[in-house]
Amino acid sequence: MGSGQVTDWQGKNVTVAGLGVSGVPAARVLAGLGAHVTVVNDGDDERARAQAAELEALGVAVRLGDGDTLPEGAELIVTAPGWKPDKPLFQAAERAGVPVWGDVELAWRLRGPDAAPWLAVTGTNGKTTTVRMLAAILTAAGLRTAAVGNIGVSLLDAVLGEQEYDVLAVELSSYQLHWAPSLRAHSAAVLNLAPDHLDWHGSMEAYAADKGRVYEGNRVACVYNAADKATEDLVRAADVEEGCRAVGFTLGTPGPSQLGVVDGLLVDRAFVADRQKNAQELAEVLDVNPPAPHNIANALAAAALARAFGVPATAVRDGLRSFIPDAHRIAHVADVDGVAYVDDSKATNTHATEASLASYESIVWIAGGLAKGATFDELVAKAGKRLRGAVLIGADRALIREALARHAPEVPVVDLDRTDTGAMLQAVREAQRLARPGDTVLLAPACASMDMFANYNQRGDAFAEAVRELGAR
Ligand code: ADP
Repeated sequence: MGSGQVTDWQGKNVTVAGLGVSGVPAARVLAGLGAHVTVVNDGDDERARAQAAELEALGVAVRLGDGDTLPEGAELIVTAPGWKPDKPLFQAAERAGVPVWGDVELAWRLRGPDAAPWLAVTGTNGKTTTVRMLAAILTAAGLRTAAVGNIGVSLLDAVLGEQEYDVLAVELSSYQLHWAPSLRAHSAAVLNLAPDHLDWHGSMEAYAADKGRVYEGNRVACVYNAADKATEDLVRAADVEEGCRAVGFTLGTPGPSQLGVVDGLLVDRAFVADRQKNAQELAEVLDVNPPAPHNIANALAAAALARAFGVPATAVRDGLRSFIPDAHRIAHVADVDGVAYVDDSKATNTHATEASLASYESIVWIAGGLAKGATFDELVAKAGKRLRGAVLIGADRALIREALARHAPEVPVVDLDRTDTGAMLQAVREAQRLARPGDTVLLAPACASMDMFANYNQRGDAFAEAVRELGAR
């Protein structure tokens, strides 16, 4: 299995590692192409058995409860992106010289010769938003496109389905990039880099290196964040096609080869004739929904990728205007008694929460949950001045309380010692008590939700529900 397309899968021995959202479709597709597919899976529960039965009906062999033994004769492993690189299965594969591909690599290798180019987005935060903005802009330009990858349409469907595309807006996680050695995007953006998933990658360096793979072999533009030097370093380290340019985005005035902001306008000084002297107006800052600083950065990154693909300025404006943010990402729920209630339940780490807290002047902050090893000192030290008060919920709330005591001792804190589902209603009531007209009550937990909720969606829904109860009084 070299680095090109594999045209003949007939009789190839392929091991699919992991049932689930990527494994089941991968096994199905490969079996359909005539490969001998064996799925190995760690778990052996009811759900796995049901999935196994479906696949076995298609001639796929499934080994449940044994995800670490390399099947005899395996020529290739296609792994679920979340499987850790230090798993014994991969060590065995390395010893045996068997290549390992992730779901993205598989899709990349299976696409046809005239397939649509990929505009790729990665980063610690803002990926989904940026990819959706990009798809909206490309659509406004009259191009056939979809937001794919970690979101929306699956990559395999996009590559193999009936629907034809001119270009794809692809969201890629660091795990997916780790397992996608031959991916070559048309252009790509790394939005930002902050410590995340370090237990998986092993170190910050390894995490950054996996993110940086998105730039490998770019043809037109490597888009980086001028405020985050680590992203620019990754561009420098990448091996790109001759003529590919480094293009920065900034919330300040853009230099040549950058997109940025001037007098309330998003402007392009990269994809214009004579960029030393000229700039092209793209849209107004107020066309970005919501126009919070980090989201303007996302819009600039999306615009840069679209412009790299040759999209006109008017399509950037029209696309941004038509863009509707996904739920639980700085979603304005309601105003009650002059106080705005905002749901950013998707802010599950401190980097995201920092951006969220920077978006409002005076905040009653609802935070807490599972900290995943994070520390909160830096976050609280930066945001302390903006806090009217804080209401803490969830298992690791003491960590945030202690950080507040150290860096913002004047901020009143309500510590809710309950984790039942009714806790959110009480949290919102406490927040209402602390808030004054003009303030924002912001759910931006900086933590995962699984101690109290099924996921961040349910946490955000509980918040919205509680706010509606306040309003209905
Ligand atoms: P991802 O797909 O990378 O998780 P999302 O677009 O879903 O990103 O946004 C997740 C959260 O990250 C948002 O709720 C917001 O709090 C925060 N966020 C979004 N964009 C940025 C950014 N550019 N920088 C920092 N935080 C961001």
